[in-house]
Formats: sequence, structure tokens, C-alpha cells
Amino acid sequence: MTAEKQDKVLGADREQSRSVSPYKAGLMGRCPSCGEGAFFKKMSLDIREECEVCGFDLSKADPGDGAQVFVIFIMGTIAALVGFILIGALKLPSWLAVTIIFAIILFGSIWMLRVFKATLVALQFHHDASEGKLDNTEGHDAE
Ligand SMILES: [Zn+2]
Repeated sequence: MTAEKQDKVLGADREQSRSVSPYKAGLMGRCPSCGEGAFFKKMSLDIREECEVCGFDLSKADPGDGAQVFVIFIMGTIAALVGFILIGALKLPSWLAVTIIFAIILFGSIWMLRVFKATLVALQFHHDASEGKLDNTEGHDAE
């Protein structure tokens, strides 16, 4: 697909994608364009190729490592606080506290990764974020 053709496709989707809240779509794990279709493949953190409802192309969606960084910092803080409460205040045995903390980290991270990944991609579409391009609209044709 040429860059010009790609711009037209993105332009057609632009109006629709603006009407969907990127935060709501991210929290619910929905398509950033229609807010209806699933964003992830079933039971995984992999993003679908395209939306099943509106056919929106999700194959170019790339949140990179952005979501992981948020989740590491947030879950690390939560796990430490829960650890202090379980061991320090409630005086639970260490094995029980570690088991509870491990479960919180495991399920909390997976849930949070889905939310952050979907939200980051939805925000990219919402704000038309893409690689920088040189502006050739002033009549300087590159030849
Ligand atoms: Zn969709």
C-alpha cells in the first residue's frame, strides 16, 4: 500500500475513531475504531489482525514496551504495599503472604497489561500518532 493510499484509509477511519473514548475502549479491551469488537485474541495478550465488527486494521498497532513499563512500576508498588500489610500488620506466615502476593502479581499484571496495551493503541489511533514525515506540501517535489 502506498503512503498516499494509506493516508486515505486512515482519513476515512479518523472521524469514526474520534467518537470512541480511547480510555473506555482500553479499559474494556475493545476496538479503538468502533468500540465494539474485541481487541485481543481470545485468552491472550496478542492483538488481533483486524476488528471482527468493523474490519478496522489492527495489524499495524504497536504499543511497543510502553505498557510493560507502566505495569512493572504499578504492580511493584502494589505488591510491596500488600506485603507490608500482610506480613507487618496482619502477621500472616511468610509462605501464605508470598502465595497471596504472587497471585496478585500474576493476575493483576495480566489484567493490567491488557488494559494498558489496548489504551495505548487506542490513544495512538485517537491522536493519529505515527512516524514523523517530511512535509512536501510547499511544492518541493523530491526528484
Ligand atoms: Zn472495530
